[in-house]
Amino acid sequence: MGLVEAFPPPPGRCYGTATIWAWWGGRCAAKDELRVVEIGPSRVHVRAEAALAVAHLLLRLRRGGVPLTRNDTGAFNCRRIAGSALWSLHGLGTAVDVAWQSNPNGQIAKTSMTPEAVRLVQQLQLPGSTVPLWAWGGHWRTPDPMHWQLNARPTELGWIR
Ligand SMILES: [Zn+2]
Repeated sequence: MGLVEAFPPPPGRCYGTATIWAWWGGRCAAKDELRVVEIGPSRVHVRAEAALAVAHLLLRLRRGGVPLTRNDTGAFNCRRIAGSALWSLHGLGTAVDVAWQSNPNGQIAKTSMTPEAVRLVQQLQLPGSTVPLWAWGGHWRTPDPMHWQLNARPTELGWIR
């Protein structure tokens, strides 16, 4: 089965890194802006406004059959995108890398993400929105299947319960 059949892309628009970076203030998160989200055994540091969305992400991945991990799952990291001058959304604390040993960058042939898990996450939308709350790196031209990034402005996230 091919990628598109196994993991159909979500309807709606996924925003680019520079757009999202600007929405979140154009700088890496400060330590006091971060919170810990623990969905056992995964434990990640994320921007406070993103914490509930991250909990939903990890819970839906787990419900969809993705084994959560502790030592190869992470979020906040103030760094540039590998091989690029752009800052990574990990610096905002709004992107999560899940089980990177099972989801090597650059390929989709090997991933622990299940079609059901990806579908469950793609169903998450903010009220009145037509875009998915989370964008998945597995859909990129150079796939990064460990990577999930928040596709929303901080001011939009107060809706999440
Ligand atoms: Zn990532």
